[in-house]
Amino acid sequence: MNAIVFDNSYARLPDRFFAPRPPTPVAAPCLIRLNLPLAAELGLDPAAPWGDIVAGNTVPPGAEPIAMAYAGHQFGHFSPQLGDGRAVLLGEIVTPGGARRDLHLKGSGRTAFSRGGDGRAALGPVLREYIVAEAMHALGIPTTRALAAVSTGEIVYRETEQPGAVLARIAASHIRVGTFQYFAARQDAEGLRLLADHAIARHTPDAAGAPNPYRAFFQSVMARQASLVAQWMNVGFIHGVMNTDNTAISGETIDYGPCAFLDAYEPMKVFSSIDHGARYAYANQPRIIQWNLARLAECLLLLIDEDVDAAIEQVKEDLATFGTRFETAYAEGLRRKLGLGAAEDGDLDLAENLLERMAESGADFTRTFRALCAAAEGDERPARACFTDPAAFDAWAIQWRARLARDSLAQTDHAPTDRAAAMRTANPAIIPRNHRIAAVIEAAVTGNDFAPFHSLVDALATPWTDQPDSPNILPPRDDERVTQTFCGT
Ligand code: AMP
Ligand code: MG
Repeated sequence: MNAIVFDNSYARLPDRFFAPRPPTPVAAPCLIRLNLPLAAELGLDPAAPWGDIVAGNTVPPGAEPIAMAYAGHQFGHFSPQLGDGRAVLLGEIVTPGGARRDLHLKGSGRTAFSRGGDGRAALGPVLREYIVAEAMHALGIPTTRALAAVSTGEIVYRETEQPGAVLARIAASHIRVGTFQYFAARQDAEGLRLLADHAIARHTPDAAGAPNPYRAFFQSVMARQASLVAQWMNVGFIHGVMNTDNTAISGETIDYGPCAFLDAYEPMKVFSSIDHGARYAYANQPRIIQWNLARLAECLLLLIDEDVDAAIEQVKEDLATFGTRFETAYAEGLRRKLGLGAAEDGDLDLAENLLERMAESGADFTRTFRALCAAAEGDERPARACFTDPAAFDAWAIQWRARLARDSLAQTDHAPTDRAAAMRTANPAIIPRNHRIAAVIEAAVTGNDFAPFHSLVDALATPWTDQPDSPNILPPRDDERVTQTFCGT
């Protein structure tokens, strides 16, 4: 068996950045799934005792488990101390390709940051994070990854008794906007500088050579987040709990709690049971990420310029570019979804016009866009069928066809086929639908049956392929519809 080679750069930061803490062993670890392609990519030995490692019953040599300190705005309210209350960073591995990756355990027991919590995770949320993180990855969207899920053989108490589980998570890092806020709240200028230098080295090495490295760092985090949220919007993803502690500096989607994908397109859709004010509704996400970035900017002011007023001017200038950055990325994604090549001025309006009609007709987001691929080849029936009022689609399709005819791609003989093929790489056939996730969790939790989980994870690995026979592609029937999702904490 090959040993895991660790190089724990975060654990070499000063003591106040974390609390050392081994995972707490569990009664009866049982490996549910090991992500073999990911293990291979990371250079990890699939034959290692992953059940015991992920459960925390074996701490591999070279690991230096720590609970990371962080703060965060939760639903707009600042908590100066959150931190890993039910997770540890086991250590960092360097992949055969030279990338540094955190190996993190979620649900691994109490830490110095647990407050009243039990430090554990229930099986349902662990499966949920595994499914959705890997689906996001297959969709090409930056995300933390799921390396493995393990059941603990222990019970955790939520509203009801639940089987316990641990998730092994891989991330470019677990540094959050809230990590910067932790040091800013303590007016720890040295800590902020060390953290920023560490984050720059890991995520934005080019910034180190910029005239103002910290401003360049901020701009790069902003660029990554603008692109990330645009990609979420393009697949109908609602993160659900975009607190600043759940916003990663790496630009990866992190912390899959009450997240959900839209079924019917509804711009102000909220699934999370605790998001009473609809703060994190689908259409609010660009605005919220900009707000979170402003919180990061506040932490960096003194690093950007000793003259705080001058620093404020600089970050204001940067934040003012967010709207355009986001919209450019979002519109580009929509153009690909509609099969359009070179940009034209009215493209965003054309896409938004379709979305309005979808909202009025209660059209399923994923199915409608996937059906457009067939429509591009001449078969409009599947697309029309998505609308309670098919005439609403017909009226839009007239404008769309006129736009397609002007498109550069339209000049070739193979245009419809080529366009449809390109659209099939922008409009997934399958997304992790809430009711399927719920069904998979139900089978695992009440029936100890993991076959539906495995088949859902497998189906989501190839989202660009039609899978007409899969039970996982259809929108929910009325009696299957999930209306609320939960943090599961
Ligand atoms: P989350 O909502 O999962 O992003 O977590 C917010 C904060 O609550 C983080 O500091 C978590 O570590 C902490 N937390 C969540 N669940 C638990 C738990 N079961 N035990 C201890 N801390 C928890
Ligand atoms: Mg979190």
